[in-house]
Amino acid sequence: MPKTLIEPFRIKSVEPIRMTTRAERERLLEEARLNVFRLRADDVLLDWLTDSGTGAMSARQWAAVMQGDESYAGARSYYRVEAVVRDLTGYPHFIPVHQGRAAERLLFGTVCRRGQLVPSNCHFDTTRALLEFNGVEAVDLVIAEGLQPQTLHPFKGNIDLERVEALLQRDGARVPFGMITITNNTGGGQPVSLENLRQYAALLHRHGKPLILDACRFAENAMFVKLREPGQGDRTVKEIAREAFDLADGCTMSAKKDGLVNTGGFVALRSAEWVEALRDMLILTEGFPTYGGLAGRDLEAMAVGLEEVVDEAYLRYRLRTAEYLGEKLDAAGVGFVRPTGGHAVYLDARTVLPDLPVERYPAWALCNALYLAGGIRGVEIGSVMFGRRQPDGRETYHSMELVRLAFPRRMYTQSHFDFAAEVIAELKAEAASVRGVRIVKQAPYLRHFTCECEWA
Ligand SMILES: *Cc1c(COP(=O)(O)O)cnc(C)c1O
Repeated sequence: MPKTLIEPFRIKSVEPIRMTTRAERERLLEEARLNVFRLRADDVLLDWLTDSGTGAMSARQWAAVMQGDESYAGARSYYRVEAVVRDLTGYPHFIPVHQGRAAERLLFGTVCRRGQLVPSNCHFDTTRALLEFNGVEAVDLVIAEGLQPQTLHPFKGNIDLERVEALLQRDGARVPFGMITITNNTGGGQPVSLENLRQYAALLHRHGKPLILDACRFAENAMFVKLREPGQGDRTVKEIAREAFDLADGCTMSAKKDGLVNTGGFVALRSAEWVEALRDMLILTEGFPTYGGLAGRDLEAMAVGLEEVVDEAYLRYRLRTAEYLGEKLDAAGVGFVRPTGGHAVYLDARTVLPDLPVERYPAWALCNALYLAGGIRGVEIGSVMFGRRQPDGRETYHSMELVRLAFPRRMYTQSHFDFAAEVIAELKAEAASVRGVRIVKQAPYLRHFTCECEWA
């Protein structure tokens, strides 16, 4: 049996990559104020900024696009995707939105009150920002291993149940619901075990609190459970995913991840309690409840994507992709969050640039260096994303300095990953030449998207 695991698809339509020289990239990055978010995508060779909405749709999805019913109210496409979501999650209430953060905004904006607390393993950046925008504290309670890039653990996305219990006992009255991100994007794309979910749900329910999944990568999480959790190997991914949804009371979803579409999302809920308030807000800010800010064709593509994503040959290849790059990095002595996550590899910038102090933003510096050296675009998950400038001008820093290389679904082939591994290995060898930055302009929320920097 050959060892090589092949991409389980053929390519029917291609997009050329525009090649650039290092000299060009130096100029382009300066023009982008040393912030790769500000680059034009045409100037990037391997765009691994995000796996969000960037994947390739299948022939079946493109065919479904033509079936889109663009009726304003009661469109057939709405009922189609609602049936798929109900089959997948078991939740009777489905509210489509244009992307994940719209789901979060509807939920937090209608259910949460100022001064409340919402625990999770790790809140994703938009989730945290939207909670804070609503005056709610986002409390990260991932297990200790989840914050140690080098520690091996099969479920580093698990939430620390003792700390949840302590929080509920101390501040239970201020907790409207618990959340958990599957897989834990911010913590390295790490999975959460069914056992941890079961106990977390039971704990919340004992205190009368619902559990809301941030379900963006529910299928990748379920595949990890199948491969790693004792007793789960013989179940289908769909069954495992369904058990996760069964344990919880609802979910927010960015279908730009495991919905395999370029835009879309939803809230799905078991109980009717919040639905009316959410739908009222949906009508006010997104659109009529049967399209939620999406076109009928987007709903069709989402329905097909949610069916395709639980395909185990696809998921096996998907998880293997990150693992493969990890093996190459290992051979080059480059540190990364271990084990590799589902959708991404998180480089540990401190192991690549050990001499760059945190005040010079080493993960941001590594991002810039990857672009200059290989035209590769990743995203910093470090002190620019999660640090803060205090009112008195002092900075706070994040506990990890990571660069996430997130892989669009069904887009890049093995040679792209071989190329990236070479570029990263060369950077490590030339670490002394990599420069840090200082931030010269920033927004009060999500500053990494737009900040301007200069070399420091
Ligand atoms: C992407 C993402 C979101 C937000 O979704 P958008 O579609 O980008 O608005 C929320 N949570 C997690 C875990 C995500 O990965």
